Amino acid sequence: MQIKVLSEQLASQIAAGEVVERPASAVKELVENAIDAGATTINVDVREGGRKLIQVADDGDGIAAEEVELAFLRHATSKLDSAESLTAIRTLGFRGEALAAIASVSHVTVVTRSREATTGVRLALEGGHRRSQDNVGAPQGTVIAVENLFYNTPARLKFLKSITTEKRVIDEIVTHYALAYPQIRFRLTHDGRISFQSSGNGSVRDVLVAVYGADVARLLLSIDDNDGHQPATSSQSSIIVSGFVGPPSLHRANRNQITLFVNGRWIKDTRLTFAIVQAYHTLLPVGRYPMAVVFVTMAHELVDVNVHPTKTEVRFRDGNRVFGAVQRAVRDALVVQTPVRPFAQLTPTANVAGWGGSLDRQAFVRPNQAPFDLPHPAGPDVEIGYGDSAEDEPATLLGGKQLPIMRVVGQVGASYIITEGPDGLFLIDQHAAHERIIYEQFMAAQANHTIASQGLVAGATIQLTPAQATLLEAQIERLAGLGFQIEPFGPNTFMVRAIPALLSRTDPVKAVLSVVEELEQDAQPLQETIEAQIIKRVCKTASVKQGQTLSGQEMEAMVRQLEACANPHTCPHGRPTMIHLSVAQLAREFGRM
Ligand code: ADP
Ligand code: MG
Repeated sequence: MQIKVLSEQLASQIAAGEVVERPASAVKELVENAIDAGATTINVDVREGGRKLIQVADDGDGIAAEEVELAFLRHATSKLDSAESLTAIRTLGFRGEALAAIASVSHVTVVTRSREATTGVRLALEGGHRRSQDNVGAPQGTVIAVENLFYNTPARLKFLKSITTEKRVIDEIVTHYALAYPQIRFRLTHDGRISFQSSGNGSVRDVLVAVYGADVARLLLSIDDNDGHQPATSSQSSIIVSGFVGPPSLHRANRNQITLFVNGRWIKDTRLTFAIVQAYHTLLPVGRYPMAVVFVTMAHELVDVNVHPTKTEVRFRDGNRVFGAVQRAVRDALVVQTPVRPFAQLTPTANVAGWGGSLDRQAFVRPNQAPFDLPHPAGPDVEIGYGDSAEDEPATLLGGKQLPIMRVVGQVGASYIITEGPDGLFLIDQHAAHERIIYEQFMAAQANHTIASQGLVAGATIQLTPAQATLLEAQIERLAGLGFQIEPFGPNTFMVRAIPALLSRTDPVKAVLSVVEELEQDAQPLQETIEAQIIKRVCKTASVKQGQTLSGQEMEAMVRQLEACANPHTCPHGRPTMIHLSVAQLAREFGRM
């Protein structure tokens, strides 16, 4: 093919793809513009997850009538005037790309009035081309409405995520900017319903309550560090870390609840996220992550924000110092404000409230590896020696088709049941085994449509973040099929009316939260249905934990139920339920052969 310069239209559509990848990125750019314009109130209205409409209204500086069309040209910006100013960017925008990018792939209408102007102006564009411009009466500020995003880029349209996902990401963006700018009043609606609101009174704590609910916000510890190693006078090089972190007891299944801001910009940074996680070293169970909202403030010269068109990555002049400052600040907040208790020293809970048990998250901790080298765990394909000597065993012996006949010997570490079989001993992981048992029972009940549900007399209310609320709302019907009866109950609040009977001994709020947590884990293997995922989580929540002492009767009941399972050798997540140590292996260990 002949070499040609791309048409302006095509070139801007290609460039637009980098900035406006999805509806949520348009929301981000428009909100950033409103913040840069000095707004004190920002209202975001979204329809159909932003596909139909994204409207951002602010009471900021507004745009002069003679400049309004210019604002939609590529590389047109009022925020940068020289190469030098690029080295110390103080505004969220600076590339002059966003409005041009958004306009080139949608229908845009802007109404704006600058402080000085007596009347406002209304400009309509289609695919970046002006359709009309009129003078109109308007309050000071800017309203930008973006309709039919990606109408002229079918490829992009085809790859859009679900409306639910998009709503969730939009929730995340608006709530995060509300946290970074507590003095600005934010309001977000989805299809006419208020999803989030902040008061603009300047208190980050109040925004935290609006985002995470009062129960979680109350627990958050404040960080207040002034870079201990720097004298307060050398402000040019000081790094200030502030914000809030969760106590170790408030851990989550993923890193999604770690939010970072650098000089008021919400950024993604794996290293700083790691710095925060590491500050919790030994305080959290393996595979669990803290909650944190961390603001890093430093001289603008020390951070390069011009890394990527979406401006969500930054480069630090001295990354190690920033890493150290963040980690130290978080660690200090934890040490000062919580009694630090390394997990290794946790004492097991002594009583078991039946198989239900309580959802004691700290009990998820696994004791250290066995001091000696055990043979390979009995995975799904490993044959376990089947005994033949059932004849004259005492009555306490337990029989079974799938498993060898076993006699319960006792419990170690309040976590493992020891049994004796025809060929040596078995160590059964009580949590994994119980998970397997109730998983099979639950699956059978689901197949027969006989899942038992337990009504809550008073009901229980649960408050979620807007993003979590969006997720849960989309699954309410599916959850009803699994025994959860949940109803919307005010903004981001739900009323739990019933839970699966299996969870009757669990705190209903915690049970629903654990399901929400499961839903938050976006990256699931494709073949796994949402139902299967939720069922596994419910079983995990309902099962006996490590660290629970079991009575002899309870242990026998568990072993007997495990024998009845179709697949007794692994838990629903594929981990082994038991380890076999054969008579021959024991002899070898003792040097007898
Ligand atoms: P950038 O933010 O990088 O400058 P944009 O394309 O987002 O680029 O915006 C172009 C220009 O339009 C801005 O520099 C600003 O002058 C003006 N502008 C955009 N949105 C607003 C707004 N909400 N209020 C006032 N001015 C705005
Ligand atoms: Mg901008």
